Amino acid sequence: MSSKVGELYIVATPIGNLKDMTYRAVDVLQQVDLILVEDTRNAIKLLQHYGIRKPMKALHEHNEERLAADIVSQIDQGSRVALISDAGTPLMSDPGFRLVKTAQKAGIQALTVPGACAAIAALSIAGLPTDRFAFEGFLPAKAAAREQRLQILKGESRTLIFYEAKHRIVSFLCSLQMVFGDLRKVVVARELTKKFESVYHGELQVVVTRIADDEQAQKGEYVVIVEGMKEQGEDVDLDAVLQVLLLEMGVSKASKLAAKITGVSKNQCYQRALEMQSKKRPM
Ligand code: SAM
Repeated sequence: MSSKVGELYIVATPIGNLKDMTYRAVDVLQQVDLILVEDTRNAIKLLQHYGIRKPMKALHEHNEERLAADIVSQIDQGSRVALISDAGTPLMSDPGFRLVKTAQKAGIQALTVPGACAAIAALSIAGLPTDRFAFEGFLPAKAAAREQRLQILKGESRTLIFYEAKHRIVSFLCSLQMVFGDLRKVVVARELTKKFESVYHGELQVVVTRIADDEQAQKGEYVVIVEGMKEQGEDVDLDAVLQVLLLEMGVSKASKLAAKITGVSKNQCYQRALEMQSKKRPM
């Protein structure tokens, strides 16, 4: 009996263009004893393309909890197992988290075979800050729950990354516009690496109308990237904006307008407007 522990590989696959498969991913999948796949029908297409013939087992959100311990015990007994998902990097809005955690608890550290990930691919071409970002994946399908989550994210200063499905893209963008305002910058990356790859960018009010008015733009897979809330002093001079507005109107109205113009939060604008107003008053 072999005392050698096997391996668990987390293998990224393409997000559309089959040429984005890495040499190492093919090599690892050709060598393992078992490939865990999200959906066997999708996996067969990819594996056949690369001439890979290996035993497969479906691992998805409904059976992962139940199967994880058994798979880890197979690895413990020497099996080499790879996990792939339908597209991109497993665990990124895809199954695998419970498996990796169960393996780690059993003393087996998963090995990564990195490659495509729609979120990172979109971010790399979005033209929005990449130094700090937050991946939010799919938000709830129901508008009320989605908008509640967006309210929490509204003040986030990091670039935000979302995934969305075609049948909800317009309602998702409308929710974004409602909560984040007309002027927040957004990038919608559609069908990346595929024939109809397209990137829409601009202020929310422009991009929402552009996509809502064009049926073609509502087909495919989407990554939506939203600029983070601007912090004071970034790009715009909040004080200069408030100074002009306060000549014409009161603190409340001026801070609301300043928030729209600058992208700085209403609360921050209000506090600053109060400070500026109090400095103006005669002693
Ligand atoms: N694990 C994958 C990854 O690494 O990106 C994501 C899986 S998640 C179930 C699928 C979602 O990812 C799609 O609904 C879409 O939001 C996004 N996505 C996947 N492929 C894409 C592509 N080629 N272009 C744009 N978005 C894509």
